[in-house]
Amino acid sequence: MDAKGYAALSKGAPLTEFSFQRREPGPRDVQIELMFCGICHSDLHMVDNDFGVSLYPMVPGHEMVGRVVRTGADVAKLRPGDMAAIGCFVDSCRTCPSCEEGLEQYCDAYATPSFSAYERGSSTRVQGGFSSGYVVDERFALKLPAGLDPARAAPLLCGGITTYSPLRHFGIGAGHRVGVFGLGGLGHLAVKFARAVGAHVVTFTTSPGKLEDAIRLGSHEVVLAADEAAVKAQAGSLDFILDTIYADHGLDQELGLLRRDGTLCLLGIPNAPANFSAMGLVARRRRIAGSGVGGLPETQEMLDFCGLHGIAAEIELLPVDQVNTAFERLKRNDVKYRFVLDLQSLSVR
Ligand code: NAP
Ligand code: ZN
Repeated sequence: MDAKGYAALSKGAPLTEFSFQRREPGPRDVQIELMFCGICHSDLHMVDNDFGVSLYPMVPGHEMVGRVVRTGADVAKLRPGDMAAIGCFVDSCRTCPSCEEGLEQYCDAYATPSFSAYERGSSTRVQGGFSSGYVVDERFALKLPAGLDPARAAPLLCGGITTYSPLRHFGIGAGHRVGVFGLGGLGHLAVKFARAVGAHVVTFTTSPGKLEDAIRLGSHEVVLAADEAAVKAQAGSLDFILDTIYADHGLDQELGLLRRDGTLCLLGIPNAPANFSAMGLVARRRRIAGSGVGGLPETQEMLDFCGLHGIAAEIELLPVDQVNTAFERLKRNDVKYRFVLDLQSLSVR
């Protein structure tokens, strides 16, 4: 099947128009005409080969929303005309304990990412969502609830589930004080979800220009990271922290803000190893955890939760040919709060 998109041809290269092939839909496959795709900081990490696993040419993009145009004979979940979504992975072994629990992102044999990958057991490349269309096994496609703006829903497929999942897993709700570090694509959704589950939300930002937004988005309090007195005033007060910072940073300041038995959950993936002192943990039995996106059942649950509570991303919608401008601005921390590409501006479908 002919497809068209934007690809990085080598490490760090600007994205250029790119034609490629996708597999013909099989009996269990859904063909989706893509309408919108969010730009996550992980797309940038991957283009720059920050994790050392990148394959080129690479069409990035893993926050996809579109319309179903064709379904295989055995597909039951979706019909042509339905609005559908695809997130960070498009296959997994399906038999290991994690897959059986619906935690495909932690598949023992590694889930197949939705871009920069090979189809399982094949040399066919998997390309991502900065493109005209996608073919995916129905099991890995999600239903978009009615009432969600499809462009604003796209970032939920990674930014949304990545912040929703740990709040659920760690049982965060009313009576908990949650700190959100970094008010970007993930961070602003973390604020919305933490608020929606009933927690008291304190946002920590390095950007003076985001203070008012932090409150508008749902934070009860906002702290400028450079304001030492304001940071100190929060010492020992938080039950849970979601750290969405992509840049290298020490963790001792964040650990010092946790209560006894509090948890610092890392979501951001800086290039350098984490740096913290054992005393920050030992002194109050604190924990450092990490969390990766979310499995298929929880992603559907999150989308339905968003439909019910009217939660969606704050976005800047751009025509797909401005993808390089978006990447440059993302690198400079100049985005409020997620770029979304309008794929309807792709000339060939
Ligand atoms: P983003 O939109 O660029 O936001 C990151 C935020 O980090 C920025 O908005 C900024 O917030 C803060 N920040 C930037 N530089 C900083 C610095 N030097 N010190 C402190 N804070 C700084 O990125 P994103 O898309 O939310 O992704 C964030 C990270 O999560 C990336 O590393 C990405 O790869 C990772 N990620 C992980 C998962 C997972 O499964 N765990 C999933 C998706 C993404 P302020 O302006 O408010 O300070
Ligand atoms: Zn992502």
